[in-house]
Amino acid sequence: MKPTDINSDASKKTDFTTSIVHFDRNMPHANGAIHYPVHPSTQYTYDSVNALIDVFQGKSKGNSPYSRQGTPTTAVLEAKLASIEDGDGAVVFATGMAAITATFLTLLKHGDHVVVSEYLFGNTASLLNTLESFGIQVSKVDSSTVENVRSVLRENTRMVFVETVANPGTQVPDLRAIGDLCEEKKVLYIVDNTILSAYLFKPKIVKASLVIHSLTKSVAGQGQILGGVVINTGLYDWSLYPNIFSGYQKGDANKWGLMQIRKKGLRDMGATLTSQAAHIISLGLETLAIRMDRSSETALKIALFLENHQHVAKVYYPFLASHPACAQAKKNFKAGAWLLSFELKQADNCLAFVEKLRVFIKATGLGDTRSLIIPVAHTIFWEMGSEKRADMQISDGMLRISVGLEESDSLIADLNQALDALE
Ligand SMILES: *Cc1c(COP(=O)(O)O)cnc(C)c1O
Repeated sequence: MKPTDINSDASKKTDFTTSIVHFDRNMPHANGAIHYPVHPSTQYTYDSVNALIDVFQGKSKGNSPYSRQGTPTTAVLEAKLASIEDGDGAVVFATGMAAITATFLTLLKHGDHVVVSEYLFGNTASLLNTLESFGIQVSKVDSSTVENVRSVLRENTRMVFVETVANPGTQVPDLRAIGDLCEEKKVLYIVDNTILSAYLFKPKIVKASLVIHSLTKSVAGQGQILGGVVINTGLYDWSLYPNIFSGYQKGDANKWGLMQIRKKGLRDMGATLTSQAAHIISLGLETLAIRMDRSSETALKIALFLENHQHVAKVYYPFLASHPACAQAKKNFKAGAWLLSFELKQADNCLAFVEKLRVFIKATGLGDTRSLIIPVAHTIFWEMGSEKRADMQISDGMLRISVGLEESDSLIADLNQALDALE
């Protein structure tokens, strides 16, 4: 079985984990080692000086001569990540933000226009503010309706950027319709699939051009390592993209976008993932499907428990019937993942409630093995102020949960005792 045999429809796929754990079977391993080794070398040599020259001149693939551009260990991780997203290439970075920054800075120029969801990950939204100061135009829209995206498109629109499930409100864009619109307008469609991962949803199915992940969350899944990736799905015709430097307009046009991201974004900007980190992320990837099944099942149980509790006003989780995008989520996603948020009827009680929890850990961060809880208005979204929070539908009492790997009974019992203890 080849990694490329992976079926592109997540809901039909049965060999996700088999393909990942056997991915390196046909790669050369020294000493009969079953696991692919870690390559800590920062420099690589070649059989002859001509072979070295060929690598520099792009005539032969070979290992990257200097590991700021990648190592054999990061290359294997890139191949695995491209394979599970059904893509034709990937570039890994030191963090998710590094992947996003490199993508924006290498593909956009002064005077270009970008359309983004108004419910973006906070640091991505903050980065876009910086880009606006560089003369890049940004429109923030409610992407749950494609018409909102269509109505702001301009002559100079280069890309539409959305997240498959937003944090903390779990909003879901009209993924398929936006894909059709971007295809029609020949605009890049970039999808941040961090929360769901390729196991629960593949953005290529809705015609994404590039897929981005913070590997820190679902993929590594352990709260102990940072990483990010950009994957080219192969659907976008890069010969149509106006911002490819002439030096990269050579050979297969499918490769141009990612080559520019690797050379200008990784090599020149330097937010490189180390081999050691890539190896740990590869280990996380091997248990991705098992963890996502478990934490999604637990998250749904918790969401239902909370929704039926007398002290709870509202629960945000894509697989709840009360969620505005529930039908779309159930159609497109294999499960709802591990992120959910809720509000107590007595919003003032939210801090006292969190204080009473014994299993949940009071912490920011997402996708850990441990379940985490945080009052978002007082912490992550504090800096932006109350007016902006209201715009983003973040109420003062909103609590965000990242579900870990604990048994659902222990988590629900913990929530239950803390709710019972409220006045
Ligand atoms: C965490 C996160 C990022 C940033 O990733 P880091 O690895 O923390 O830099 C980007 N997008 C989403 C949706 C995230 O949750």
